[in-house]
Amino acid sequence: MRQRQPPGPPIELIYRQSLKRSHSNAYRSRHPEAFGFAKHRRTHPHPMSTKLESTGPNTEAAPITGSCLCGKVAFEVKGVPLKFLYCHCRSCQKSSGSIHAANLAFPEGSVTWTQGEDLIEMFVDTNENPGFPRCFCKNCGSPVPKLSRNRQFWVVPSGTLDSDPGMRPQANICWAEHAPWFAPADQIAKHDGPLA
Ligand SMILES: [Zn+2]
Ligand SMILES: [Zn+2]
Repeated sequence: MRQRQPPGPPIELIYRQSLKRSHSNAYRSRHPEAFGFAKHRRTHPHPMSTKLESTGPNTEAAPITGSCLCGKVAFEVKGVPLKFLYCHCRSCQKSSGSIHAANLAFPEGSVTWTQGEDLIEMFVDTNENPGFPRCFCKNCGSPVPKLSRNRQFWVVPSGTLDSDPGMRPQANICWAEHAPWFAPADQIAKHDGPLA
């Protein structure tokens, strides 16, 4: 499953270290190289990586809990989301195994791991969006939150949340790469349970 890494610094180690130290400004100033992914960026940066600016977490909002499918990785998200986007890029199609990703962006400092942080594995895309990190539970494979490449916000897969984040999807991004079989959910038949 794991693919050949691009040349350069050990990006997984750097990312893991920076995940654990995401609140430490002192660490950033000592290790500026740990926060640069420029070497691996695509020519047109991923929209979730570049178009959002953090205004800091809203600590007055009640935290939302979230977890992976097996429940071993769990977290809390504080504050209000910045964005809720469907991403149709090929990287999101492949990594989700679905028609698009559905991610919320929260300000840096919003996510706190409550258990299972040691079970988080990272894969760095070398094909569709080179350098783009994908974090997942290594027990069940579910995607879990990750920091954006510019480290200004968290990307939280909406399906991992245990309650309604309040915001509704706002936009389809990377629409140029959307799957040819895309059909809006409200335009196809609905069944309350699985098909027999
Ligand atoms: Zn899991
Ligand atoms: Zn995407």
